[in-house]
Amino acid sequence: PPLVELEAVSKRYSLSEGTLERLLGTEESLRAVTDVDLTVQSGETVALVGESGCGKSTLANLVTGLETPTEGTIRFDGRTVGPAAERTHDDLAAVGVVFQDPRSSLNPRLTVEKAVAEPLHSHGWNRERREARVQELLEQVGVPDRHATSYPHELSGGQVQRVAVARAIALEPRLVVLDEPVSALDVSVQARILNLLADLQAELDLTYLCISHDLGVVEHVADRVAVMYLGELMEVGPVDHVFDQP
Ligand code: ADP
Ligand code: ADP
Repeated sequence: PPLVELEAVSKRYSLSEGTLERLLGTEESLRAVTDVDLTVQSGETVALVGESGCGKSTLANLVTGLETPTEGTIRFDGRTVGPAAERTHDDLAAVGVVFQDPRSSLNPRLTVEKAVAEPLHSHGWNRERREARVQELLEQVGVPDRHATSYPHELSGGQVQRVAVARAIALEPRLVVLDEPVSALDVSVQARILNLLADLQAELDLTYLCISHDLGVVEHVADRVAVMYLGELMEVGPVDHVFDQP
């Protein structure tokens, strides 16, 4: 089966009493994602594109379980994903997330080794196993040993994003959601991070759902592109097919 299956998935945010929209009687809820069908096969990279506000982050949050759909079904590896409160540790470990701004996604008060060890810790790994795994992960993402005790503000943007990637893959997830993974980085660093992500994908058999507004990035990483517009999925297809249309 596909690794991820979304079937008629919608997400509405209710607007609280007294909001402007409510007073104007225009809308009682905001449809952030409407009736989306999407499957992601194991091992592929699907890029999620579309203008700001079209629902990309909401869709990604539905897939990671941060948000629960208002309607529709999400299946992960053939199993229906329940509400966030019902997720087990193993469910949560199956998906990693890398955010746009590495500095805001890492706790500024945690050293590199603590940041990477955190998911292992909350998963019950003992100290010895954690230390060995952290060392292995830092090597895997190309962060030198001497940075293990550094804080995020002491590292370059690229190094910090490598740490965020190490943290995201620490529990060997099947799927990694990449939310604008390189757009906060210098252009010269972007390609190196994209190459790292590609290497890890091959090595660890990862599946990526990658939000990006950058056509260059999308062409570089994506097997298929999903185009969103005002909360709806307009089109899904191979990169050249989607972008070569008149
Ligand atoms: P981007 O376009 O980079 O995704 P956004 O500003 O749209 O950035 O969203 C950033 C985060 O803020 C997302 O996690 C989204 O769910 C949340 N968010 C966006 N709009 C609202 C809103 N009106 N109220 C509350 N949270 C929001
Ligand atoms: P994108 O990631 O494509 O920029 P988002 O998924 O962040 O889009 O947002 C889609 C729509 O849902 C936007 O209108 C946004 O303001 C709204 N939205 C997102 N998160 C929330 C939230 N937590 N509460 C209310 N509205 C939200």
